[in-house]
Amino acid sequence: MNNSELLQLLGRSVITSPISQILTDADGNIVWMNTAAEHLYECSAEAMNGQSILVFVPPQARHENERLAYFSVQNARAMNTETQHITQTGRIFAAHVTVVPIYDEDGTLLAVSRFVQDVTAQIQVISTLSRERDLLEAILEASNDAILMIDQSGRIAAVNLQFETVFHVPRYYLVTRAVPDLLAMRETQDLPTNLTNLMLAYGSDTSLSAGGDFEHGDSTLVWYSAPVYTSTGESIGRLFVFRDATYEREVDRMKTEFVALVSHELRTPLTSIRGFTDLILDMGDDVLHPQVKDYVHIVQQNAERLTTLVTNVLDLTRVEAGRVELQRHYYSIQKLVDFAVYSMRQVIEARHQQLSVTIAPNLPELWVDRDRIIQVLSNLLSNASKFTAQSGHIQLRVNTLGGDTANYPVDVSTPAILFSVQDNGMGIPADEQNRIFERFYRAEQATRQQIPGSGLGLALVKALVELHGGKVWFHSIVGQGSQFYFTLPLVENKA
Ligand code: ADP
Repeated sequence: MNNSELLQLLGRSVITSPISQILTDADGNIVWMNTAAEHLYECSAEAMNGQSILVFVPPQARHENERLAYFSVQNARAMNTETQHITQTGRIFAAHVTVVPIYDEDGTLLAVSRFVQDVTAQIQVISTLSRERDLLEAILEASNDAILMIDQSGRIAAVNLQFETVFHVPRYYLVTRAVPDLLAMRETQDLPTNLTNLMLAYGSDTSLSAGGDFEHGDSTLVWYSAPVYTSTGESIGRLFVFRDATYEREVDRMKTEFVALVSHELRTPLTSIRGFTDLILDMGDDVLHPQVKDYVHIVQQNAERLTTLVTNVLDLTRVEAGRVELQRHYYSIQKLVDFAVYSMRQVIEARHQQLSVTIAPNLPELWVDRDRIIQVLSNLLSNASKFTAQSGHIQLRVNTLGGDTANYPVDVSTPAILFSVQDNGMGIPADEQNRIFERFYRAEQATRQQIPGSGLGLALVKALVELHGGKVWFHSIVGQGSQFYFTLPLVENKA
C-alpha cells in the first residue's frame, strides 16, 4: 500500500468514525465536519462551512474553549478539557474536547482538528455518585457513635469524628494503617490496649459478628463489629461501632437498686402481716367469727402472693445485677428433685393432678446452689400445675443430655444433665412463645382465665439456669400441653 492509498483509507475511517471531528482553518472557521459531528451538533457540514467554531460554544464556555485552542497551538501539542458545547437546536451538553493543531513542514499552522464526545450522561452519574458519597460522609460524621471501618486488605479505611473524639487519636494516624501496625502505635499514640486487641482479634475475620461492653476510662461503651458486604455479596471489610452507654448503665443500675430497695423494704411488713394472720387463724373457731375467719384467709392468701412477687422481683434484680453468688455444693439429683416435689406436692394434689417422676439410674451428683435449683424446678412444676386442668398429668424426667438430640437447641458435646417438666395442659400459642421468658409477660389465656401469677417465674428460671451455665427451652402445642427443658452442665468443683 502506497502513501496516497493509506491516506485515502485514513480519510474514510475519519468520516465514518463514531467520534465527532471538526476541522477549522487557522482562524478558527469550520472547514469540515464528519458525520458523527453532524449528528451531535444537529446540523449539516455544508451549512456550517466557513462559520466560526464558536457557534458550537455557549457564551459561558467561550473563554475556556478559546484558551484551550490557544495553548494547544502555542505549545504545538494536543490538549483536552471538559467544557460545554451547544447544538444548532440549542441543546447544551457536557463535551470532552481534544484539540489537535496541524502544521506544515515549516511549522505553519494549517488547521485545527477537534475531537468531541458528549459526556453529559457520565458527568451526571459522577455527580450523583459524589453527592451520595458526600451524604454518606456527612451521616458518618454526624453520628454520635464512634465508627471505624477496616477494608478487605486489613487496613483502616475510615474513621469518623466521634471516633477521634472518644479515643483521642487523629484520623490521619489511623487511616490506611494495617491493623497489626496499631500495636506499635499503642505506645506513641496512647491507643487503648483493649481497642487494639479488639481490632486484632476481629480485624481479619470476614464472617463473625460480635459485640459487648468496653470499659474506656470512666465510660462504658457498648461495641459491635460486623463484616460488611456489597449488595452482590462481596466482602469489603469490617465495621466497628462504639456507643457510649455510660448514662444508660447508670440509670439501669439506679433502677435496679431502687427496685431492690423497695422490694426489700416490703418484705419486713409482709412478714409481720403473714405472722399475725397465722396467729389469728390459729385462734380457733370459738373465738373467731366465721366471716372474720374468711376475711383473714383472704388477707393471708394475698400476703402470700405479694411475698412471692416481692421475692421474685428481688431475686431477679439481684441475678441481673450480677449480685447473686451461687452457694454451690455437690447434691444428688434425687435429693434436689425430692425437695422440689415436696414443696409442690400439696398444690398438685389439690388439683387432683397426677405427678410422675423418672430419674435415670446412676446419674452423677450436681455441683449447684441447691435452693436455686429447687426454685427452678418448683417454678416449672407450679406452672405445669397452674396451666393444666384438674386431673391433668405432669411428668418430671431427668437424664443425661445426649441420645435423641435432634430437637435440642444446645451444644450436646458438653456433658450435662437434662431436666424436663411436661404437662398435658393448655399449651402456649405460637405467636406468644417467644415472649414468655420476658419479665412480667403472661400469655393472654393466663390473664383471661385469671390464673394467678406475676409473669416473673420463667424469667427467674432462665436467669438462674444460665447462672449455672445451663440453658432453658420448651416445646408447646395449644390444647396438648407444654414441655420445658433445662440443662445443668457437669462442671468440676472450681471452688
Ligand atoms: P406466671 O406463671 O407467674 O404467669 P411465668 O413467667 O412463670 O409467669 O410464665 C409466663 C407465662 O408463660 C405464663 O403466664 C403462661 O402464659 C405461660 N406459661 C408458662 N408455663 C406454662 C405451661 N406449663 N403451660 C402453659 N403456659 C405456660
